[in-house]
Amino acid sequence: MPKQKTYAVGIDLGGTKILAAVVDITTGEIIASARKRTRAEKGQDFVANRTIELTQAALSAANLPQDAPIVTIGVGAAGQIDRKAGVVVDAPNLGVKNMQLADILGKQFSKPVRVGNDVEVAALGEYIYGSGQGFKNFVCLFVGTGIGSGIVQNGRMYTGLTGTAGEVGHIVIQAGGRICGCGGRGCLEAYASRTAITKAIMAEIHHGRSSILANDAALQLKEGETIIRSGLLANAIAQGDSLVIEIVTEAADYLGYGLGSVMNFYNPEAIILGGGVIEAIDLLFERAVNRARNTALSAPALQTKIIKARLGDFSGVVGAACLGSEAVGFQFPLS
Ligand SMILES: [Zn+2]
Repeated sequence: MPKQKTYAVGIDLGGTKILAAVVDITTGEIIASARKRTRAEKGQDFVANRTIELTQAALSAANLPQDAPIVTIGVGAAGQIDRKAGVVVDAPNLGVKNMQLADILGKQFSKPVRVGNDVEVAALGEYIYGSGQGFKNFVCLFVGTGIGSGIVQNGRMYTGLTGTAGEVGHIVIQAGGRICGCGGRGCLEAYASRTAITKAIMAEIHHGRSSILANDAALQLKEGETIIRSGLLANAIAQGDSLVIEIVTEAADYLGYGLGSVMNFYNPEAIILGGGVIEAIDLLFERAVNRARNTALSAPALQTKIIKARLGDFSGVVGAACLGSEAVGFQFPLS
């Protein structure tokens, strides 16, 4: 007998964009979604109002029947979260501190609201409806502005003593190395994140190296910071741009050392890799996988599966929808 359709709202609240979606949580299907830039510089109230506006837009676009069961709203936010209280405690990338997000959304939409960390929630999405299906112990690692991961242990998200487990971006891979956003030195994300790749390429261009990307028109400038889209990097590699190939190769090696260390330490069944640069740049993915297998001990090197995330941009909203529903007792088919 077909299961009755049940819906939840999932919100991915990130430093660059806010994405809200109505998700059929019996299948993981996205019914409708809405997105806009976060504009964190405009302040906390702006971000809260934009989140409400996009949730409303996704609900309107979904055009569900009046009696359609919408069980919860779930959010994955890029920052430190008090999961019990539904509060975004500190999120520098969102320009937010002590934001009572569960209260704000709960009052607006009269639904239970659950809030989690963005990476943890994206990992949950991959676990329930993406590449993590069928695994009970794995790490889901996302490469973007930074590098973060969600850890699934015995079929549950493992968050650690202080809720910060999975911060693989801050594994030190180069003693005394590059300064990291966390204040430390030599962290993985200072070498292998999209931000790190961008900085390294721009530094070389400023020193006079030639590159297809040296043409400013190809670069997107945002508040004085350069963002090179993953597609542009992939395109430059396809055209044989030696600077981009060199920098991406170096980043892939560092990423591989990090992955190999994770394999040795946690001995997971699988590592799932996500993020725009992973999706778009085969050189990065393939070289990192090879480096990881050369770095890890022989048994995990042979047996750990290293695969790409399947839900792409939507792992966060699917996971957020699942987070909320799980918290109110919804049973997923495979988890
Ligand atoms: Zn760091």
